[in-house]
Amino acid sequence: MSAAPSTETRIVRKSDNAAFQTIKADVCVVGAGIAGMSAALEAAKLGKKVVMVDSQPALGGQAVNSIIATFCGLFSNGTHGYQFTYGIADDIMNYLAEQESAIHFRNGPRTTVVYYDEVALGRWVEESILRSGVVPVMGAMILQTQVEGTRIASVDFMTRYGAIRVEADGFVDASGDAALLWNAGFECREPEKQTVFGTQMVVLENINEEQQPTRDVIGQRMKEKGDQYGLLRREGLGFTIPGRGIAAMNMTHIETPLDPVAASQKALEGKDQASRAVDFLKQEFPECFGNARIRSFGLPGIRQTRWIVGQHHLTVEELKTGKKFDDAIARTAWPIELHDHGDGHHWITFDEDHVHYVPLGSLVPKTCTNVVAAGRCIDADSAALSSVRVMGPCIAMGMAAAHALDLAEDGNVHNVDLDALRARVHDNVETQHYRWTEAELANPVLAS
Ligand SMILES: Cc1cc2nc3c(=O)[nH]c(=O)nc-3n(C[C@H](O)[C@H](O)[C@H](O)COP(=O)(O)OP(=O)(O)OC[C@H]3O[C@@H](n4cnc5c(N)ncnc54)[C@H](O)[C@@H]3O)c2cc1C
Repeated sequence: MSAAPSTETRIVRKSDNAAFQTIKADVCVVGAGIAGMSAALEAAKLGKKVVMVDSQPALGGQAVNSIIATFCGLFSNGTHGYQFTYGIADDIMNYLAEQESAIHFRNGPRTTVVYYDEVALGRWVEESILRSGVVPVMGAMILQTQVEGTRIASVDFMTRYGAIRVEADGFVDASGDAALLWNAGFECREPEKQTVFGTQMVVLENINEEQQPTRDVIGQRMKEKGDQYGLLRREGLGFTIPGRGIAAMNMTHIETPLDPVAASQKALEGKDQASRAVDFLKQEFPECFGNARIRSFGLPGIRQTRWIVGQHHLTVEELKTGKKFDDAIARTAWPIELHDHGDGHHWITFDEDHVHYVPLGSLVPKTCTNVVAAGRCIDADSAALSSVRVMGPCIAMGMAAAHALDLAEDGNVHNVDLDALRARVHDNVETQHYRWTEAELANPVLAS
């Protein structure tokens, strides 16, 4: 016989001066996207006490919650290129390969892209954090910062359960919007004129893969009939892992302003655009999309909003010439992918043997001395950032941020031992390891 249910209650009341709960850490990572994850896990491996904070009540940033769907910039150009970035990139690919058919490489015609299932990636993120000893604080938004000279001493976050203060020796700004350095009053950079559009991603199920039109055919029809459906963007991409009847559709352009009211309005308009794009697909390509239904919407996908002002402003010229910096910490050959006009985007590819690099100087703020940025808020011009913000280099930047904090003399990231750093990030800058066998390289299977 079970015990009688408990009926006892107690009366509680919030005290006026409820103290902040305080956590002390060696490293505080703000942002749990792919760059923040890489930084937090690497710092934990270095033996640091790490706290990772994110305003979303879930980990994984855009990679998981905006349903980005593919890892770009992880391999060199040409079909079956060599791997550019290691660290958690290997862990993720191994994890996805263990999940039945959760990993799929698209090799070609010029780039190698890794498709992933966002649910599987989300589980990797959660399992990795549980195993790592990193302390996650989710649903926590920056409220205010305490700055001492050129250093951030602590950051206060508000959560639905009350406020929390994180005191740390070093910080990683992996917020995507330079939210930490902005809130701390350090100078930041925004695009002068053109906005860079984001995208509302949508996952469709029940598609007939065999009848899938190419992206050129979809794009042409969007150009012809977009007005009829009220579409703003006139081109579309769909990512399909073969055999699943599911496609992640990237067919919209939405503004992603930094004003809170406007941002909310644009997020709703983005879902409206995505729904219209699905109507368009169902009606214009019924043989493939006639029975399709929306399985899920991602959170608004934000490309480029606000960046740090770093010690080095990476330029598109430096990308085009493949300038190899003394303090290079990441590399890629991903095209310039600038979404700066509503109906389309610039897409400028590089040759097969091309490589461009990201210097530590673009991650280190000009003034602040105990923060390193990683991911899509490093210092670059709009066109350069549109290439290096993809997830392959974001992973390398996260790793480098953890090592830079570890190697900072007296905790000052303006004084990092570059010889030691070069040794630690060697694989992400120098190694040329081909994942595919000679036979596969000799006989590449080109997918669409
Ligand atoms: C629609 C779209 C499609 C893309 N397609 C691809 C693709 O196919 N392949 C690819 O490799 N890349 C793609 N990219 C680029 C890539 O997804 C991003 O640049 C990359 O994910 C950025 O990672 P991040 O860790 O820098 O930032 P994010 O993933 O944006 O993470 C930042 C985190 O910081 C948190 N945060 C922000 N402000 C605060 C605050 N004030 N307080 C607390 N937390 C805060 C956010 O909640 C968020 O979780 C795409 C981007 C978009 C928008």
